[in-house]
Amino acid sequence: MPGGGRGPGGPFGRAYMTEEEKASQPKITFALVKRVMSYLKPYVLQLLLVMVCILVSSILKLMPSIITGKIVDEGLIARNIKALVYYILISLLATFLGNLIGVAESYLNNWIAQHITFDMRNQMFRHLQKMSQRFFTNNNQGDIITRMTSDIDGVESVIANTFTSIISNVMTLTVALVAMFQRNALMAIVGIIIVPLFTIPTRKAGKTRWTLTRESQACNDEINGILNETMSVSGHLLVKLFGKEDYEFEKYSDANKKMVKLNIREKLAGRWFFVVLSTFTSIGPMLIYLVGGILMINQGADLSVGDITVMVALLGQMYMPVNSLLNIQVDWMRSMAMFSRIFEYFDMEVEVRDTENPKNPKLRHGNIVFDHVHFSYDGSKEILKDITFTLKNGDCIAIVGPSGSGKSTIINLIPRLYDVGSGRIKWNGVDLRDMELAHLRSGIGVVSQENYLFNGTIRDNLLYARPDATEAEMIEACRKANIYDFIEKQENGLDTMVGNRGLKLSGGEKQRIAIARVLLKDPALFIFDEATSALDSISESKIQEAIEPIIETRTSILIAHRLSTILNADEILVVDDGRIVERGQHEDLVKAGGVYQKLYETQFAKAISGTQ
Ligand code: ADP
Repeated sequence: MPGGGRGPGGPFGRAYMTEEEKASQPKITFALVKRVMSYLKPYVLQLLLVMVCILVSSILKLMPSIITGKIVDEGLIARNIKALVYYILISLLATFLGNLIGVAESYLNNWIAQHITFDMRNQMFRHLQKMSQRFFTNNNQGDIITRMTSDIDGVESVIANTFTSIISNVMTLTVALVAMFQRNALMAIVGIIIVPLFTIPTRKAGKTRWTLTRESQACNDEINGILNETMSVSGHLLVKLFGKEDYEFEKYSDANKKMVKLNIREKLAGRWFFVVLSTFTSIGPMLIYLVGGILMINQGADLSVGDITVMVALLGQMYMPVNSLLNIQVDWMRSMAMFSRIFEYFDMEVEVRDTENPKNPKLRHGNIVFDHVHFSYDGSKEILKDITFTLKNGDCIAIVGPSGSGKSTIINLIPRLYDVGSGRIKWNGVDLRDMELAHLRSGIGVVSQENYLFNGTIRDNLLYARPDATEAEMIEACRKANIYDFIEKQENGLDTMVGNRGLKLSGGEKQRIAIARVLLKDPALFIFDEATSALDSISESKIQEAIEPIIETRTSILIAHRLSTILNADEILVVDDGRIVERGQHEDLVKAGGVYQKLYETQFAKAISGTQ
């Protein structure tokens, strides 16, 4: 296929937008363009250099086509070997130099694109780190990752391809047209009319192909879905236990068959397209020969054979640039859509943020006070209503209540995963919102029901809490967390791998490692969310043994499900429907005969025999 310009359909290889893209077309405003440009600003010098390179290399690459005229007229027709060799050498040299400059241009280009996306990636990561818990609960993890990866990759391709492709194509076309008009205006006009005619079938074929590609992508997704489901740890177990191997195989094999058909069709669409295109592209030169021939032979126009050859050669160089330029609008829209999707994330307000002039009180010996706290996740349904209590330094408060009553929400407010709606939480007399987030969070250690251990060794996971912890400190923390016996029994001790998300460990072991981790952090406040899920009684009692000394001596707040833990607390808060409905000591609450007493009968009493 005749070359000269840059890829058909721009960086994305498509000349039209999908329905989805059309629906999410951004409003291209001056502000948006300005914002995009602001990312290019630090690289203005390099960009100028790129433009110079493009300019020079476009001209150099067209030189051979223009020189063919000389080769024909002054070399071949004039039968002059010297001139022939001279022009051939010049032509080769121009091609070589053009390509050489092309390399420099592409280096610079990619350098700029990589640096811009480097800046954007870091900016995005930093920004996402600041997003609140609400953001991560409301947004699909896949979406977040797509935005971090594909969208920014898209931007990279936009910068590396779209921008330069526009400049380079305009350059090539301008030079080609000027050269054509210089020779003969009529023939130049014929050329201009022909070229778009050829690019239309290209677009049509591209569309068919794209439809097929999308179908095969959907099919691929289906196959991946089946693989994900059946080849995962729990999925394959389900298949085996229900004896569904044949059923799953048939599903897989059907999808696979569909894929084969689609792939063949897709490849063939390409072939047909090529047949049509090459037929069309060979008609172009013939037309030029015909018109040129009539002008030269019948009309006696001032045209040489070389001029006509140049026209044909230049025509060949015009297909790609014209095709690309026809798609510019789409490319441009797509690029802007990509940027605006990224900007959408950048513009999301950081909900929980540091104040300008933070006060950082000593956390270790301060009381924590909830002062008429109200809270809602969505701004309408109030989840916490008038929560007021004081956690004195060294004390332990147990929160109990039915599921969904707001217990987790109360403890989420302390490390400011969310900010209170109204009222305030104070620690050592200072509103949490007036403290530096890092300071506040350094004072809190959380052991939740679902503890996240990352894939690495037990040591790695422990050191995450305190990178400078010594071996002895780690061992002591593990002893206190009642997990050291287990670690000692492992062949690799602290260097035992915990597996993906800690899956190689049992729930109880994970819990105790998580306890060791917060012990190592040694925070001013311990927060425990006691697991409701069934742990065997040995695991439970081991966890219990690890927690008890902490809640007896350290400031702590816990969501309690077990009577023994509750009995150890200095105060019990009974939460129901977002309110503290009862508070006090176990005996009194049982006697009061309210919500607590009911909970006690249904939930805690069964644990009495085991734990009391
Ligand atoms: P508990 O810990 O007592 O089981 P939670 O504090 O988790 O209760 O939940 C209290 C209420 O808040 C429930 O009605 C729950 O549906 C709602 N809730 C919890 N988390 C969110 C969230 N991220 N967004 C919206 N609503 C939530």
